[in-house]
Amino acid sequence: MSASFTTELSYCQLANEFSTSCSPSPVSAPQWLAFNQSLAAELGLPEAFWGTEAGLQLFAGNQLPDWAQPHALAYSGHQFGHFNPHLGDGRAILLTEIVTPEGQRFDLQLKGSGRTPYSRRGDGRSAIGPVIREYLVSEAMHHLGVPTTRALAAVATGDWVQREQAQPGAILARVARSHLRVGTAQYVLNLNSAAKLKSFADYLIERHYPEIILQHAPGFARYDALLSAVIDKQAQLIARWMSLGFIHGVMNTDNMSLVGDTIDYGPCAFMEAYNEHQVFSFIDKQGRYAYANQPAMAQWNLARFAETLLPIMTANDAPEPEAAIAATIERATELVMGFSDKYQQYYQAYFSAKIGLSADHPEASKLVQQLLAIMQQQHIDFTLAFRYLGDAEPKRRNHLFSDSASWLTWHQQWLHATASTPTHQLQRQLNEVNPALIPRNHLIEDCINEVIKTGSLAQFVRLQQAFAQPYQERAEYADLMPPATASQQVTTTFCGT
Ligand code: AMP
Ligand code: MG
Repeated sequence: MSASFTTELSYCQLANEFSTSCSPSPVSAPQWLAFNQSLAAELGLPEAFWGTEAGLQLFAGNQLPDWAQPHALAYSGHQFGHFNPHLGDGRAILLTEIVTPEGQRFDLQLKGSGRTPYSRRGDGRSAIGPVIREYLVSEAMHHLGVPTTRALAAVATGDWVQREQAQPGAILARVARSHLRVGTAQYVLNLNSAAKLKSFADYLIERHYPEIILQHAPGFARYDALLSAVIDKQAQLIARWMSLGFIHGVMNTDNMSLVGDTIDYGPCAFMEAYNEHQVFSFIDKQGRYAYANQPAMAQWNLARFAETLLPIMTANDAPEPEAAIAATIERATELVMGFSDKYQQYYQAYFSAKIGLSADHPEASKLVQQLLAIMQQQHIDFTLAFRYLGDAEPKRRNHLFSDSASWLTWHQQWLHATASTPTHQLQRQLNEVNPALIPRNHLIEDCINEVIKTGSLAQFVRLQQAFAQPYQERAEYADLMPPATASQQVTTTFCGT
């Protein structure tokens, strides 16, 4: 092990109930699918594991180095509104926490590495499709500038997993600032111990929101600040998703990170034709997690998080305890309600930038809403509609919007509103925030099919390269820009559990 590689295990040492020590189950014939060299370098992962046999055996869970201290983490969660106290890492194992040469702490986790004490009836495995999907989409999100978990490696196991049909198995090595979720806080609350709840909240503050320690003396004010900080991070994250047409698909409380990262890529998808009611996920029959519902669902989840903090947000020596509790509930409610304003501010900032205006431009909000209405009515591709605004010539955008009267009127108003910005500068600004390339569903599906049917990784590698620079329009990737044709269209996604 190189001297600069530091690993620790801090979270699992907080309390016994927070995790269970358990090892990955070996697989029969591991093979590399992908290895993220630049991430490995950022983490300071010893080169002995970079695409080597030792690395393959590590990421397959067959042979762990002595720095690994494998544990599965416990958590609960509201799934589609229904509380399940017993979730936890059912198919994931935390190998260790890595402290990078820059002093940043990351979890290194294997996903699909076999049964754990939290597997319930599941096999603890992943099929190759969801592994490739998470690898591509999470890395694309990172390069798009969205806070997210990362993909360090993917390996095929050589074993089959039984889903609707038998499928080849695979394991994803995932890196996250932490895997602490709203559902983790719900689990800790259920332990009925103020001391454990405090230790959990203090840990969250120390690991993810250390500025709170400087701003607030120890005591309940810190937990108000924690709630406020988590709400702010989520408001920003969801606005960012919306600004890219990203639909998470399963925003259950166990799939919402307390750090503000996008986590647990399941049936997620990027919208093509703009439709605020868009749903892809096969399991989301009611449209609970439809595109336009995402902010409201995030707020609902944050209310669940606020509930977990209530016991420690009240001074325990208050002279009138009942009044103090009522005051706490009022403060927490106000903070959760405050999500809407924060979200609106971020939304306004991101979407105004997408049309080249600052959020306080008097026309910005109206122009954004009008454009979205035209897109909804004409079923226009979300990504290209914004991308083509950055073209010097209006040809591509006029073609996209079929020269309709409503579009031409909007276009005139927009040219007028942006007239004070020199054209070159405007184009540059627009192209810096409106991606040319997103991981479109049909591209991912084709890639997965190619890997499964032919064993070729060519398309997988190509997509990784293309999505690493999503804001650059490059001729060699021109075929990846358009939306799916009618015959290519993917209308339903599956979580792959
Ligand atoms: P998800 O909807 O993928 O976030 O998963 C919800 C819960 O089910 C989590 O506790 C997962 O660990 C667990 N789970 C999902 N798939 C499996 C599987 N194949 N085996 C065991 N547990 C699983
Ligand atoms: Mg999950």
